[in-house]
Amino acid sequence: MKFEIRIVKADGDPGSEHRTRRMSGFWVAMVGTFTTSCLALSRFRGSGLGLPSDFGVRASEFLGCLLVICVLNLASAYCHAALPIFRAGAAMVDITPTNFPIRTAGNLTLTLAHKAIDPLNVRALVLDDSQTQIAIAVVDSCMVDRETMDAAKTAARYVTGIPVERMLISATHTHTAPAAYSCHGNDVEPAYVRFLIPRIAAAIIQAWRNCVPARVGWGKAECSQFVHCRRWIMRPGTAEDPPAAFTGQATNIAMMNPGYANTNKIRQTGPLDPSVTVLSLQAADGRPLALLANYSTHYAGVSETGLSADYFGEFCRVMAKELGVEEGKPFVALMSNGTSGDANCIDFTRPNWKNDRFVVARAVADAVLSAMKDARYRDWVPLAMAEQKRSFKVRLPSRQDVAAAREYLAKNVGDRPTHNWEENYARETVKMADWPAKKTIKLQALRIGELGIGTTPCETFGSTGLAIKQASPFALTMVVKLANGCHGYLPPPDQFELGGYTTWRARSSYLEVGAEPEIKHGVLSLLNQVALSKKP
Ligand SMILES: [Zn+2]
Repeated sequence: MKFEIRIVKADGDPGSEHRTRRMSGFWVAMVGTFTTSCLALSRFRGSGLGLPSDFGVRASEFLGCLLVICVLNLASAYCHAALPIFRAGAAMVDITPTNFPIRTAGNLTLTLAHKAIDPLNVRALVLDDSQTQIAIAVVDSCMVDRETMDAAKTAARYVTGIPVERMLISATHTHTAPAAYSCHGNDVEPAYVRFLIPRIAAAIIQAWRNCVPARVGWGKAECSQFVHCRRWIMRPGTAEDPPAAFTGQATNIAMMNPGYANTNKIRQTGPLDPSVTVLSLQAADGRPLALLANYSTHYAGVSETGLSADYFGEFCRVMAKELGVEEGKPFVALMSNGTSGDANCIDFTRPNWKNDRFVVARAVADAVLSAMKDARYRDWVPLAMAEQKRSFKVRLPSRQDVAAAREYLAKNVGDRPTHNWEENYARETVKMADWPAKKTIKLQALRIGELGIGTTPCETFGSTGLAIKQASPFALTMVVKLANGCHGYLPPPDQFELGGYTTWRARSSYLEVGAEPEIKHGVLSLLNQVALSKKP
């Protein structure tokens, strides 16, 4: 029944089921009242106009009572039927490629995977407050561009009727997934993108089909153990400093991942966001249905060569085990990436620091379990979502930069893969030669009761995430990065004065210097907009 109603009314009428419930309640009340009245009237003998009844009640008094009963019955039925139902559904779809070798994203130089160490998935969640439906998907991928995500959203919309503006798709930023976006030494695998699009859509469609009445709660815990600033201010002249013609950055005082033993490092930039936020869904009987977590560390890494969902996938498996349910049947956990553009798992102030995807997943899962212990579950909360497109200038290379890079590559690299920073950024300069002067990006905000979610399509820094959370109108706010596209690192303007990897011009860092404040304010204005949304 649910399926038929929604397919027919899918386009632009998400409230059809809500109204159907109200109307059916109305007609049940009418039929019930009519039947009761007929039975009572049949007790009367004679005309009912002034003649006594079997019960000693005059017809005029009876009609008065009947009117009261009718009004009370209808009011009760309307109120009961108008109570909206909160529903949620989750699903996961395997996106591990079947053809090897395959280029993986995340490394500066060409990297080929010959096997999968653990499976890659798209994990999706659909929420429905009886008026508004929202879809959230997290893809085990390093970066997925806006065109790919838009294609998946459009495909999912055809079946579910959920408007594309109410779909949030983000990438986990695992560095061991097939290249779904051309960047540095690893060009996109076009066949994999064609494989990915219908599977992202299928996860959303299946989550929508899996929707059942649900309860919703949220919470937050700290997990600072694996959030460390990887950008360090270095002694003058000791930071990496490739040619400015290839990076667009003349001054480089900051350096990424200097190492514990490097005595030239002075202090970290920052600040960072150490918190884990979680949205938890339960079926009406309390069974775990789904959860969406968010944590601000880059990735954990994998010790052998191959594809892996990194700690993001491992976290989801641990959560299912901890909650005593089987992954995908139908419980699904989603781990989204927070604002980790300048954060990773490694503490460079300590010698022999070790971490892997298992210990990070365990620590984050423990934090999520503690946050869920304090969560209060509601039977219904209002949903709202807003989206905004913004255009930003691109830090394009000049004609002289491109000419210098072409000459350098012809002389030193030729057709072979790039091997170091200098070669790599020369190649990036040439690859950006024909880029447009502006790029349009999408920002979003979601309201799930008193939980707000803000999204940016960039590798956003910790300070930006903290500022959004602090100024947010919501009691608890989650900030998801690499959402609805991938438009590179988003250093705040003062970070360009320090230079370093994340500021160097490439397909991984290209928005204008002033983009960060604009994006931060854009997300905040959307959060304010959804916070003010009215629901019955
Ligand atoms: Zn990265």
